[in-house]
Amino acid sequence: MADRYQDFHLQPLAGEWCEGSGDTRRPVLDPYSGEELVSIRLATSEDLDKAYREAEVAQQSWAEQAPSERAAVLHKAVSIFDERKEEIIDWLIRESGSTRLKAMVEWGSARAITLEAASMPARAHGYTMASDIPGKDNLVYRRPLGVVGVISPWNFPLHLSQRSVAPSLALGNAVVVKPASDTPVTGGLLLARIFEEAGLPAGLLSVVVGAGSEIGDDFVAHPTPALISFTGSTSVGKNIGRIATSGRYIKKVALELGGNSPFVVLDDADVEQAAKAAVFGKFLHQGQICMAINRIIVDQSRYEEFVEAFVAQVKTLRVGDPSDIETAIGPIINQSQLEGLQRKIADARSDGATVLLEGEANGQVFAPWVFGDVTPEMSLSAEEIFGPIAGIQKARDEQHALELANGTEFGLSSALFSGDPERGLRFARKVQAGMTHVNDMPVNDEAALPFGGEKNSGLGRFNGEWAIEEFTTVQWVSVQREPRQYPF
Ligand code: NAD
Repeated sequence: MADRYQDFHLQPLAGEWCEGSGDTRRPVLDPYSGEELVSIRLATSEDLDKAYREAEVAQQSWAEQAPSERAAVLHKAVSIFDERKEEIIDWLIRESGSTRLKAMVEWGSARAITLEAASMPARAHGYTMASDIPGKDNLVYRRPLGVVGVISPWNFPLHLSQRSVAPSLALGNAVVVKPASDTPVTGGLLLARIFEEAGLPAGLLSVVVGAGSEIGDDFVAHPTPALISFTGSTSVGKNIGRIATSGRYIKKVALELGGNSPFVVLDDADVEQAAKAAVFGKFLHQGQICMAINRIIVDQSRYEEFVEAFVAQVKTLRVGDPSDIETAIGPIINQSQLEGLQRKIADARSDGATVLLEGEANGQVFAPWVFGDVTPEMSLSAEEIFGPIAGIQKARDEQHALELANGTEFGLSSALFSGDPERGLRFARKVQAGMTHVNDMPVNDEAALPFGGEKNSGLGRFNGEWAIEEFTTVQWVSVQREPRQYPF
């Protein structure tokens, strides 16, 4: 039983587990220990083409299955999530450098979206609508898109693949996934095993393990996929949007991109609670979360108090072995991300931010840094940090805090603290973001609630009824039941 969930050197391509046909093998490394977990021969554009073509064939009969039959596969997948909880969590720790706590959160989110998806076959519905033309019946049918191409990142690989894969399959589509190179197992191969064990017919879910820079353009430009569901950086997402809409074949795109979440502390906030929330929302998964707090904006009247509480709380965080449940900060995903964080620290120093807490790097583990007196122009505010570095800015008053919060090209998540929930709600309604949380931190994702961003954080929404909209299309069919009178 263990082997199928331990040996991941093959990939499910067009209905068969096989090696990619590329010349290169890619080792997958544990970011904490450096151990090689598996070595995978990469797929090529020819492999991808086979996977897409087979998906197109398999999708036809899958879409015709009764809603309850598709739902049953999703329900079975949920029970496999339960039975294999420890194996799944173990992979998330070893492959993506998740702390045990984060791995448990991710397992829970991926399970929850699978359960939510199990309800979708029965919830997807069309309409009948009245017509201006006498004798005409209007019917609006909802139907699957066909084949969906999913590209996912390395930070929450299991959940961020599954939030597209599970609803797509539930709604009668076939899927081809391209996981991130650092996380091919948790971003795709593990899900393929789960669905295989759950009885999903072969060929409906392929996983293509290959470098985005090599097969990415072909993945998007291929004639088969009707939708490319991409989660990752804004720069890659923009390129995908361009290829998907300006090539030979036009496709829909769902783009879940970078963030720059503000966390605002107003003058009437419970500062102790705000500091605790900020530490969790900043440092969960070493800050490598699109919704993670990127800018802490504190009313100047509470600044000193907040800084003291925040730094004191950060100092309590355990740093090191991610498999230990007590550890709050584990490793950074890879060396190049780590070097990027070191550059961000050098920039913050040279920009004139005040060092409030200095961390040390030990291997790929990077202890937290905290900077104060940050201004909107500094790169620490302007760019997505994606690491365990916090920057705190002062706001003159509520209006200034709002201006600072909205002063970004991004608009994914956001949060604020106020002692008055009604004041908090009024502030929240003026924040330019897809998600805003009052008296909480910005890292929130619930399977039935709309997840997505505004501005350069992307296009579209995941979860619940919004996923039904995203992963289906509608067809207007009219039936003229009595001869229509034409003007000529
Ligand atoms: P990335 O954009 O570098 O990579 C994401 C995926 O795109 C990977 O699978 C990668 O292999 C692939 N890719 C790279 N180049 C490609 C190309 N030319 N064509 C097609 N695919 C290509 O992002 P990352 O470093 O893996 O993840 C971090 C980024 O993702 C951050 O900006 C973060 O905010 C964002 N993110 C957003 C969300 C969200 O829901 N909005 C969630 C998680 C991460």
